Amino acid sequence: MAKIIKKILVANRGEIALRVMRSAKEMGIKTVAVYSEADRKAPHVVYADEAVLLGPAPSSQSYLKGDRIIEACIKLGVDAIHPGYGFLSENADFAQAVADAGLVFIGPSARSMQMMGNKLAAKHAVKDFNIPMVPGLDEAIADISKAKRVAQEVGFPILIKAAAGGGGKGMRVVEKMEDFEEQMNLAVSEATSSFGDGSVFIEKYIGAPRHIEIQVLGDTQGNVVYLFERECSIQRRHQKLVEEAPSALLTPDVRKAMGEAAVRVAKACHYVGAGTVEFLCDENLNFYFLEMNTRLQVEHPVTEMITGLDLVREQIRIAAGEPLGYSQEDLSIRGHAIELRVCAEDPTNNFTPDIGQLKTYRRPQGYGVRVDDGMEEGMEIPVFYDPMISKLVVYGATREEAMDRMKRAIEEYQITGVATTLPFGTYVMNHPAFRSGQFDTNFIKHHYRPEDVLPKGNDQELAAILSAAELDKKQLSKTNDTSNTNGISAWKMNR
Ligand code: ADP
Ligand code: ADP
Ligand code: MG
Repeated sequence: MAKIIKKILVANRGEIALRVMRSAKEMGIKTVAVYSEADRKAPHVVYADEAVLLGPAPSSQSYLKGDRIIEACIKLGVDAIHPGYGFLSENADFAQAVADAGLVFIGPSARSMQMMGNKLAAKHAVKDFNIPMVPGLDEAIADISKAKRVAQEVGFPILIKAAAGGGGKGMRVVEKMEDFEEQMNLAVSEATSSFGDGSVFIEKYIGAPRHIEIQVLGDTQGNVVYLFERECSIQRRHQKLVEEAPSALLTPDVRKAMGEAAVRVAKACHYVGAGTVEFLCDENLNFYFLEMNTRLQVEHPVTEMITGLDLVREQIRIAAGEPLGYSQEDLSIRGHAIELRVCAEDPTNNFTPDIGQLKTYRRPQGYGVRVDDGMEEGMEIPVFYDPMISKLVVYGATREEAMDRMKRAIEEYQITGVATTLPFGTYVMNHPAFRSGQFDTNFIKHHYRPEDVLPKGNDQELAAILSAAELDKKQLSKTNDTSNTNGISAWKMNR
C-alpha cells in the first residue's frame, strides 16, 4: 500500500542526520532535526526545515528519548522517522511504538529487528536456510562444564561473545582451557554491564579472517536484491576504520554465493529496507554468517559509489511502499570506492579518543572525493557521542586509482586541534599488504607501529615526540576512558 511521505524527522545527529536530510531534500520532502543541548548549533540542526530540542547532552536524556521524538512528530505533522545508525536504529520497541503511533518507520519491521537484533536469535532464524555459520554453540551458555565440553569440541582458540553485543564490544578470545572459566565470567559481567543482558555463546575463533559484508535491499512486495560486498577488515577494537567496495579478494563465483546467502538471510526474517549481512571469510574463501545489521550502515557510501544507487532514497521509496523497480540482473559494479573513518582518535596512542576543538577544518575537494561530515571549523567534539568527525570516501576507475586518490585527499584534508585517524589512512594506502589485497582483520596487530605515522626525522627527535605524546595522552586518557565507555554502554543499553 502506497503511503505519502512529505515530512521526515531524522532521529539522529552528525553526519548521518545530514546525509539523510540531503536525500530527503532532493525528493522534495521536508525535514525535521532533533538535537541535544550540546548540539544547538550543529550543522544538522541548521540544515533542517524545523528542529526540536530533546534535552541535555547525554544520549539517554536526548537522542534515546523515543517517546519525546514520537510526540514531536505528531505535533509537527511528520509522516516518517529515519533513525540513522546507532541510537534507536536497532531498537525494536521503538520501531513498534512508531508504527503504533501511525507513523512510518524507515527501516524493517519490529519483528525482523527482534529476529536479527540478538546474535543467537539470528543464528536460529537462518538455521534452515542453508547459511554457513562459524562453528560453535548456537545457544546461550549457562552451565560451565557443558561450556567447557563445547569449547574442547570446537577447539581453541575460541571466542566468547555477548548475544546482545555490538560496536565491537563484548568479545573475549580464549586460547586455552585453563583460562576458560575466568574469561567466561568476565565476558558475562561485561555483557551485563554494557548491554543489560549477560547471555554469551561460543564461536570458533577464526585465525586470519576477513570481514566481508553484503548490502541487501528488500521491498514490501517481497523482492530482495544484494548490492554486492564491502570489505571491512581494517579494524581496531573489532571496529572498522577503512572500508572498500568491491573486495580485492572475492571471485565472481564467491561474490554470487555470498550475495545469494545474504538474500536468504533477509528472506528468513521478511526483511524490508536496507540491511547488511556480515560474514567472516577465511583464506580459502569459505564464508561464515556473523550477524545482520538491520539499519543503514556507517560505510554505506562505498556501495553507493560503485552501484550508482542512493541508499537513503531507496530506503524512503521502500518505506513509502514503492517496489524496488529493478532486479538482480540489472545491478552491476562499476569502479572502486574506499572509505576512511576520520575519527578524533590518536593513532600514535592506541587509537584513544581525543577531545578538543577543531581549530582548523578544511575539507579536501576534487574529482572522485566525497566527505560526509557533521562538523564545522571551530566546533568542539562533544564527548558524549561517537568521536567520528567525518567519512572520507573516494571513487576511482580501479582500486589502484582509488588508493592514490585517497592519499591525495588525505593530504588536502587539514584538521588541527585534535588528533585524527588521517595519518593512519595514509599508512594503510601505502602499505604493501593493503595495496596487494593480502590482509585480514589482524592488519593493525601484525603490521602497524605508532612510529609509522610520526613525521620522519632523526631518531632522537622521533623518540622525543613519542614520549611527549605519550605523557600528554596519559593525562588526557584518564578522562577519556570513562567518558567513552559510558558513551558506548548508554548507547547500547537502550537498544
Ligand atoms: P557499522 O556496523 O555500521 O560499521 P560499527 O560497527 O562501527 O558500525 O558500530 C555499530 C553500531 O555501534 C553503529 O550503530 C554505531 O553507530 C554504534 N557505535 C559505533 N561507535 C560507537 C561509540 N563509540 N559509542 C556508541 N555507539 C557506537
Ligand atoms: P559486532 O556486533 O560488535 O559488530 P560482530 O560479530 O559483527 O560483532 O564482530 C565484529 C568483529 O569481530 C568482526 O568484524 C571480526 O573482526 C571479529 N570477530 C567476530 N567473530 C569472530 C570470530 N568467530 N573469529 C574471529 N574474529 C571474529
Ligand atoms: Mg558486526
